[in-house]
Amino acid sequence: MGRKVKRSFKHRFYPTREQAAELSRTFGCVRFVYNRALEERTRAWYGEQRRISYAQSSAALTGWKKTEELAFLAEVSSVPLQQALRHLQAAFANFFAKRARYPRFKSRKRTRQAVEYTRSGFAWRDGRLTLAKMAQPLDIRWLRPLPESAEPSTVTVSRDSAGRWFVSLLCEDTVAPAPPTSSAVGIDAGITSLLTLSTGEKITNPHHERRDRTRLAKAQRDLSRKTRGSGNREKARRRVARIHARIADRRRDFLHKLTTRLVRENQTVAIEDLAVRNLVKNHTLARAVSDASWAELRMMLEYKCAWYGRCLVVIDRFFPSSKLCGVCGTVSARLPLNVREWICDCGAVHDRDVNAARNILAAGLAVLACGGGVRPQREPSRTGRSSVKQEARRATAGLARLRGGGGSQDGSLPDAITAG
Ligand SMILES: [Zn+2]
Repeated sequence: MGRKVKRSFKHRFYPTREQAAELSRTFGCVRFVYNRALEERTRAWYGEQRRISYAQSSAALTGWKKTEELAFLAEVSSVPLQQALRHLQAAFANFFAKRARYPRFKSRKRTRQAVEYTRSGFAWRDGRLTLAKMAQPLDIRWLRPLPESAEPSTVTVSRDSAGRWFVSLLCEDTVAPAPPTSSAVGIDAGITSLLTLSTGEKITNPHHERRDRTRLAKAQRDLSRKTRGSGNREKARRRVARIHARIADRRRDFLHKLTTRLVRENQTVAIEDLAVRNLVKNHTLARAVSDASWAELRMMLEYKCAWYGRCLVVIDRFFPSSKLCGVCGTVSARLPLNVREWICDCGAVHDRDVNAARNILAAGLAVLACGGGVRPQREPSRTGRSSVKQEARRATAGLARLRGGGGSQDGSLPDAITAG
């Protein structure tokens, strides 16, 4: 029993000198093929309004390998080259569907280099991975073993700006459903703490974060003083990249543990849309939780909720979560960001963030109760349309009902919702 999911497992590996050389060569060829194909597509599109297909690009690649000056392309595995053309095809499909900008050239200076191998480009035997054109398996440092039944379908090899090598194995895996629970939680992206939960719990940034940032600032100052093109500058650049990488790794690790816990403990998780945070132009807020953290957190919650059969509700942007009194439903007119605690006219005393998290939870549960129709509360001042005001009133009524039902205060779901 369990859910079949695609899951990738990323680990560090240490290539031999030959493997590193082979991979660097492959990075170069992949970049070349991608850029050359992009150039041809661009010429066809802007010159003749003609679209070039993946099959045509692939045929062109076969032709290039036969020429004298591009014969080096035949020396590396053809699998990552084909994958590069598939990625280009996907980039154009997104462009033509108006989902993305026009594809751009890959630069050698790009900090992270990556190539992808599909099933025919690697051998997987007894838990050892050998890439095409290589004699030895990669020396992978497994932090934890791959699940018993896992069989990688795609392998991505990358080198980050700090010069570290990683291999990511995409596998089909079976995820056991999380034990059923009736708990629900609302999450607010806070100012003084990283996150505040509707339970009242405040989650702060990991304590090494500040120390890492100080180190980063110092390394960046050092880098700015080095002469362009010098060996010392390259060393300083690596140091900056290493600190960046460590910050990102630790943050990801922290967010993984946090999101796994939240998803396992709760049937329903309610969060605010990221866009809501972009409306608030405040530097302390931007500093306390970076957009990267929040976007990563949301992405993790999305797929983990899907894995474990949980429900993630994303509340629409103009929801005044911190200004709405969770007890009486009044929206306070003004609440400057430096006000951490406020007293509503009804007498309720609110911690700003906890109140916001509770309102997000209540709004999330109201959305679920309304049968999936998103009916967020909006600030009437932003839109002036009567239909929106009506929605706001209905949502407020819904909040009051949920509060009155008594279920949501301690974070458990009212029966009506679990039944439906
Ligand atoms: Zn009140």
